[in-house]
This record gives sequence, structure tokens and C-alpha cells, in this order.
Amino acid sequence: PYDVLVVGGGPAGAAAAIYAARKGIRTGIAAERFGGQVLDTMGIENFISVSHTEGPKMAAELAAHVKDYEVDVMDLQTATKLVPATQPGGLATVELQNGATLKAKTIVLSPGARWRQMNVPGEAEYRNKGVAYCPHCDGPLFKGKRVAVIGGGNSGVEAAIDLAGLVSHVTLIEFDSQLRADAVLQAKLRSLPNATVIVSAQTTEVHGDGAKVTGLAYKDRTTGEPKTIELEGIFVQIGLVPNTEWLKGVIELSPRGEIEIDARGQTSVPGIFAAGDATTVPYKQIVIAMGEGAKAALSAFDHLIRSAPA
Ligand code: FAD
Repeated sequence: PYDVLVVGGGPAGAAAAIYAARKGIRTGIAAERFGGQVLDTMGIENFISVSHTEGPKMAAELAAHVKDYEVDVMDLQTATKLVPATQPGGLATVELQNGATLKAKTIVLSPGARWRQMNVPGEAEYRNKGVAYCPHCDGPLFKGKRVAVIGGGNSGVEAAIDLAGLVSHVTLIEFDSQLRADAVLQAKLRSLPNATVIVSAQTTEVHGDGAKVTGLAYKDRTTGEPKTIELEGIFVQIGLVPNTEWLKGVIELSPRGEIEIDARGQTSVPGIFAAGDATTVPYKQIVIAMGEGAKAALSAFDHLIRSAPA
């Protein structure tokens, strides 16, 4: 069995595997797609001490750094079930889609998350060419330009307020007849001179010139009238969905499906830790996911040295 088995090979999982392996303990990492969301990212400019890098490059460097250590890397492996140990100090089991099972004394869960997509024509085609999901990451790329934010929940309204300080104009588009964000955020947004709010609007298409986004089409849901907005950027903020469906009923999840963790990355089940975008930790960023992964691995090690020898 592994001393530490990491499930998920994004920044959080890679950091956890490296920190565990550096303790000289038996470490494995299983990932559906090693690199995680970083693989889908173009420019990364907020990974501190690296002024600029690109997603695929960072993903390759994550893999290379993990391979510097004695870590069993199991790429293209999807975990489908977690069975916690039945007694203290016992082994937990992770079942994989291919039918194999992995056993471990401790587990670090880092399955990350995915941005909910609009699923309209042009969205996939112009991803990273004007269609963006992360204002903290990509906001500065739209300095002085016109953007829309799709979604009037807290994250959409926060994104619009954040972007208004950078871009020339931001239009917030909400499907419902009213915004769902906290009143204080709505008031802040409505006070900004370069922000417009459109409600009862269904986004229907992302327009582009083949290389980049040029506009957005939506339907006015009260009149049924089709409308278009010329702009350079679209931030989709209709939800970040944690990849935790397979953990439901086994460990405590928040109402949004995030793995509940304490300050040490401990989940509701002893010996099972979690890190990164899949957890309740606020702000989903690479630098944060890596710190959380390191923390969870150190907590797993701490758990191991305190467990009675088998
Ligand atoms: P992920 O990166 O989501 O990795 C999850 C890992 O778990 C993957 O390997 C996945 O395949 C695997 N996995 C999932 N489910 C299972 C399963 N059941 N079994 C096995 N493996 C599983 N952050 C920044 O700091 N700066 C940026 O510039 C930036 N730009 C971004 C741009 C885009 C387009 C996107 C989508 C995100 C961006 N982010 C950025 C956010 C950043 O990528 C995430 O915060 C970070 O990758 C989270 O790391 P993680 O390890 O928690 O999860």
C-alpha cells in the first residue's frame, strides 16, 4: 500500500506528491489528466517569481518536478470510488474506472474543479481568444477593452466590479429578471460609471472574426428580441463545479459540492486530506492550490507518524 496516495494531478496534487515523496514515504499519484486546468490555460502571469509562463509549459514542468522523486505516477486514471479505512490505522481504498483498486494509509484528494460553460456556439472556439473564465487570471489582458460578464451571482458581480477598474466598459448579463448577488455588491456595481447591467438576457452566441472575439449575441427574454453587443472579451461566471460527484456520501461536502477541510487540509474522515479547487478553501488559484497541496501532504505525514505501527 501507499503511505500517501494523491488523487488528482493539478498544481495541488503535484505539490502534495512532491512534499510527501520528500519525506521518503511511499507515494502515488493518480490523475485523470496530469496538469489539470493548467493545461487549458494560456498565459499565466500571477505565479509568483515567474513573470510569465504558459499553461502547457507549466504542466510539463509540474510533471518533470514530480518525476524527480520516487513517485508512482498513474496518469489517465479516473477514481470512481473512495472507501475509507474501517478502523483507525487501517487502509483506505480508491477504485479506478479501469477496475483496479489502490490502497493507502492516507489519501490527499485534489480533483480540482471545472468552470460551468454556457454551451453556446462560439464559446469553445474562442476560449482563450476572448472567452475567459478567471478574472483574477485574465482580467489584465483586457485592459482598456470592452468586456461582458455572464452571470449575476456573487462571482459574476464581483468579477464585473473587479474588471471595471481595468477595462473601458463592462456589461453584466443575467438570465434571470434580477441579480442574485448580495445587495451590497449590486449597489457597488450599479454605482460604477463604466458598468451596465442587463437582466432577462439569454446569451445565444459568441461572435468572432476567426482569431478573436468581436461580440456577443443575446435574446431579450421579455420581448424575444435578438440583440448584439460589440466587445473584445467575455468572462463566463456561471459557476465553478468541483469534481467531487464520486465522493458524495463518503466525506463531508459543502452545499456547493466542495470538500470540507479544516486549516490543515483534514476532511471529515481521519487520514483523508484534500487540497485545491475541489475544497472549501477560498480563491481558486495555482499559487493557492500548490500551497494547499503542500499543507495536505505535511498533514498526511503528521497523521502517519502519529498512527500506531501496524
Ligand atoms: P486542477 O488543476 O483542476 O487539477 C485537478 C486534477 O485532478 C487533474 O489532474 C484532473 O484530471 C484530476 N481529476 C479530477 N477528477 C478526478 C478523478 N475522479 N480521478 C482522478 N483524477 C481526477 N490560476 C492562476 O493562478 N493563474 C492563472 O493565470 C490561471 N488561469 C486560468 C485559466 C483557465 C482557463 C482556467 C480554467 C483556470 C485558470 N486558473 C489560473 C486557475 C487554476 O488553473 C486552478 O486554480 C488550479 O489549476 C487548481 O489546481 P488543482 O490542483 O486544485 O485542480
